[in-house]
Amino acid sequence: MKNSDIYVTRSSMPPYEEYIEAIKPLWDSHWITNMGAYHKQFEKELAEYLDVPELSLTVNGHTALELVIQSYNFPEGSEVITTPFTFISTTHAIVRNRLQPVFCDVKMSDGTMDEMKIEEQITEKTVAILPVHVYGHVCNTEAIDEIARKYGLKVIYDAAHAFGIQYHGKGIGNYGDASIFSFHATKVFHTIEGGAVVCRTHEMYQKIYDLKNFGIHGEELVTSVGANAKMNEFSAIMGICNLKYIDRAIASRKAVFEKYQELLVGRPGIRLLDHSADQTNNYAYYPILVEDAYGKTRDEIYAELKRKGIHPRKYFYPLTADQACFKNRYKKVEICNARWLSAHILLLPIYEGLEIKDVERIAESF
Ligand SMILES: *Cc1c(COP(=O)(O)O)cnc(C)c1O
Repeated sequence: MKNSDIYVTRSSMPPYEEYIEAIKPLWDSHWITNMGAYHKQFEKELAEYLDVPELSLTVNGHTALELVIQSYNFPEGSEVITTPFTFISTTHAIVRNRLQPVFCDVKMSDGTMDEMKIEEQITEKTVAILPVHVYGHVCNTEAIDEIARKYGLKVIYDAAHAFGIQYHGKGIGNYGDASIFSFHATKVFHTIEGGAVVCRTHEMYQKIYDLKNFGIHGEELVTSVGANAKMNEFSAIMGICNLKYIDRAIASRKAVFEKYQELLVGRPGIRLLDHSADQTNNYAYYPILVEDAYGKTRDEIYAELKRKGIHPRKYFYPLTADQACFKNRYKKVEICNARWLSAHILLLPIYEGLEIKDVERIAESF
């Protein structure tokens, strides 16, 4: 690792003095976790920013997803229809809740779950659909909702990639029964580590609250079995600080994104994924598909860039369904599109502050 190396992402940092100033009050109050003042303030600010009715902060995105699933108390062994074209966390959250993932294929156009292939996977054991707004590409929420209503299923979105995105003029967290966000250091918006559950009802907010705080309801009263998944005050303050600069961060990413578009759209053998006109973009990722016609394979480009100190990533390869821990364990489903995408995808570096001359260098390096 050299200092001049370019990684696929880099954490946005608020101005140093500002964060240091902001955490000073913690040395007076000595209150550094347990739903302190900043947790409260950040929860409120974030619910407003994301334009959602209910939001509960958590220690990370993965735990948020585990707790949402857990909050529904699905019978052990129930089936959850999900996508294999995602970060391993999505599938882990299902399996760690003792449920069975049923992998549904994705669309070649944008990598999101193929709504036309959901119904054929529904059985009497199906309880939920768990799609991912992969790379911030919004799923076909209308079709998914309709299927869910018809069969009485819950819809839980993994919106870890979709921070701040609006769809049909509404915050993305308003779709489905619940969504989770990740504020991990590598995401568009971060709290170092952190996440949130967003949901429609205060009743569900309460359930998540209990699950994230041991079910404690007073010094001598515990009413349900819960975990510990609270966000601490240092993270909440990092969130408050970063939220002030989120527009700047996204604008910087947009400039990078547009430069890549200028240099790569129309390059023979390089295909880009579609992006719905009904949504805004957070420019979280820059995925390219290296088709056979390019003359070099995805893996050759990956190696070539690495040699030049540029570190793209093969997200998401392998598919979660093909990982050692899950392979051949669950219902066998044709997932040809997901396999193709996974074999041809490469994510180029994009982050706040990536210089345009570096974008040019990257695009010219393969
Ligand atoms: C990052 C991510 C998660 C997990 O979030 P953490 O905050 O890292 O726990 C889950 N799903 C997807 C799609 C992600 O990208």
